[in-house]
Parts: sequence; C-alpha cells; structure tokens
Amino acid sequence: MNFQQTVETHFPGTLSETEFIVNSQAALTEWGFNAENSIACVGACRDEITRTLIDKVQDAWGEAFNFSSLGGMMFAGKTGFSAAHHHAPIENGREHYVYFAMAHIAIDQNGDIGVCYRPGRSEPSGACGALIAFRQEMLSGDVALTLDWDDVEQSLMKQRLLKKMKYGEIPDLLALTKTAYEVILSDLKHLIAETVDVAVSDYAVLCGIQIHGANKEQFVWPGEMYVVKNGQRSAITISFK
Ligand SMILES: [Zn+2]
Repeated sequence: MNFQQTVETHFPGTLSETEFIVNSQAALTEWGFNAENSIACVGACRDEITRTLIDKVQDAWGEAFNFSSLGGMMFAGKTGFSAAHHHAPIENGREHYVYFAMAHIAIDQNGDIGVCYRPGRSEPSGACGALIAFRQEMLSGDVALTLDWDDVEQSLMKQRLLKKMKYGEIPDLLALTKTAYEVILSDLKHLIAETVDVAVSDYAVLCGIQIHGANKEQFVWPGEMYVVKNGQRSAITISFK
C-alpha cells in the first residue's frame, strides 16, 4: 500500500493540515469562537516535525498556548490549563478556549508506518520517536515503570499508556498511536473538567492524530471534536472541500 491507501485504510477522513485548521476555524466561527475572543491551546509532541500544526494554529487564532510534551501527552496539568485560561480574552463576561490535542505518526510514500526522513540525515527516521522507544522497550521484555527523574516525560507517558493497554500485549505502532490519541483525549477532558467553569466559559475540543507524509506534507486525522457552549455539548464536523 502506498501513502494514500494506508491513510485511507487506517485514518479515514484525513484532511491536509491546512484544510483541518481552516475548516475547523470556519466551523467554530458558527459557534461564536473567533481569533479575537478566544485563546487557542495546542498539545502536540515536542518533535520539531509537529511544529507546522502549532504554527498554523498560531497564525489562525493569533496565539497558541503550548501544552506540548513527549508523545503529545497532556502533562501541563491543572497549572498549565489554568494559566492558559487566565490569558484568555473576556468578551461580555465570557471566555473562550480552543484546545487542539494530537498524537502523531509518520507514514512514508510507500505506506511504511512510523517512517520519515529528517533534513541532513540519509537514514530513515521515525515518528513518534517516544512511542517507538516505548515499543522497543516492550519488545526487549524489560519495561522500566518507575518515574525516572532523568526521563520524566517518557516515564510518565509509559505509565499513562500502560493503563489503557491490554496486559501482556505489545501493540504495533499504529495501535499504540491510536492508544496515545485516546489517552490524550481522556486526559484533556479530565483537565477541562478540573479547570473550566462552564458558567463563564465556552470551549472547543479538536482532538486527532497529526500525520507526517513524504515531502514535508502534513495531514490531520480528525478524532473527537465538539464545542461546549453555555454548558451544552455539540459535535462539530469538518466539511471537506
Ligand atoms: Zn513524537
């Protein structure tokens, strides 16, 4: 399978990153979110390859509070979320938060999953490197589970992912990436519940998986996406052009 077929098979509904940003912003405009009255927050992996998403969010929304950690995990926690909220504009007494939160994966032109090429390096590289390293550790049969102060984010990521995994199973990178997405979504929802007062704030959740294709082409598989306005949740759909 080539890139296109692999994406259609495993990530149906995938859009280019630009389409995702433009179309999601258009959808959110209908719900009263705009660059002037909202703060955008982005959680992606620290990998520089994810930067295009953060930059596009910043260009579209005027700013991007950065929640990024290895694997795209939501380790900014309540302090990070509360800080972002305190930076939001206030319009008619209400605040608006737009959360982008993504796992990520590379797929090369041959449809090989996890494979990408980095500038100045001829050998193939991988993404997400943090998830690939975790898989290697599982394959070695020796997974370190304690909090390693010299590797805080990686050890926390492993602990979070293992809670969602079946004991004894080593998922392939595709399955592990989808588990990472589920963990990110679940932690995002939990932190929103801990920190957002819907009596005075509306928010949008745009969760998914960022896909790095060949030739620096970037895509997004849209996962769960919704707005909560005046305390009411509504699904948002991103139309194709
Ligand atoms: Zn990564």
